[in-house]
Amino acid sequence: MIDTHCHVLKEEMDNYIDIIEECKNKDISMIINGYDNKSNKEIIDLANKYSNVYPAIGLNYDQIDSFNDKDLEELEELIKSNKITAIGEIGLDYYWTKENKDKQIYFFEKQLALAEKYNLPVIVHSRKASQDVFDIIKKYKVKGSMHCYAGSLEMAKEFIKLGFKIGVDGPITYSNNVKGVELIKELPIESILLETDSPYLSPEPNRGKQNSPLNLIYIAEKVADIKGISVDEVIEKTTENAKELFNI
Ligand SMILES: [Zn+2]
Repeated sequence: MIDTHCHVLKEEMDNYIDIIEECKNKDISMIINGYDNKSNKEIIDLANKYSNVYPAIGLNYDQIDSFNDKDLEELEELIKSNKITAIGEIGLDYYWTKENKDKQIYFFEKQLALAEKYNLPVIVHSRKASQDVFDIIKKYKVKGSMHCYAGSLEMAKEFIKLGFKIGVDGPITYSNNVKGVELIKELPIESILLETDSPYLSPEPNRGKQNSPLNLIYIAEKVADIKGISVDEVIEKTTENAKELFNI
C-alpha cells in the first residue's frame, strides 16, 4: 500500500522513525509532504535513508505570510538537486483566512509553474477555495492529487478531466460522512488514492488518536465496503493509481 499524503516528520510525531520502520516491515510506502524548506530538507534526508519514503516538497498555505521569493528559489534548488516525487503540499485555504488570499495564490501559481517546468505531479490542498483552485490549475499543464477532497462530485469530475486523482482519508470512516460516502460510490476506482494525512484525521477505530500510515488499511476497508468490492482489489487498484501518477 502507498499512503499518498502524510506528514510523518520529527516536528509532528515523536515516534516518526519507528513508524517509518514498522511500515517498511509491513510493505507500506508513504509520500511524506513538506510545508516549508526545513521540513522539505528533512523529508529528502528520510527518502535517502528509507526506501519506503517518497518526498513531496512544497511551501504550504499555513505559513504563507512568512515566505518570500527566496523560499521559492531554495525550493527550486532542492527540486533540481534531488529526486523528488511531487510538489506538495500546496494550495489555497480560505477557511483559516482569506486576508492573505493574493499571496496564497501567488505561491500556488509559482509552484504550479515549477511542477510544469520539472514535469512533477502536485499534491493540492483546497479548503473553501475549490473554484479558485480549479481556475488556477487549469492554466498549467500539471497532474496530481486533490488531497483530502471534500468538494462536490461535479467538481471532482472536473478535476479528474484535468488529470487529477481524488485523495480519500480517515473522515470517510466517520459515521456522519454521508457526502463522502456518496462521492466514493460515484467515483471510478481508477481515480481514487488512499492517504492518511498523518498525524491528523485518524480513521475509525482509532479516531482521536495520533494517526499513522499503519491506519491506511481502515480507509481501504471502508472504500471496499462502499464500492462492494474486495479490500484486496481496492489496495491493488489504488496502489496502481499511485504508482502511475507519482511515477513510483
Ligand atoms: Zn497534509
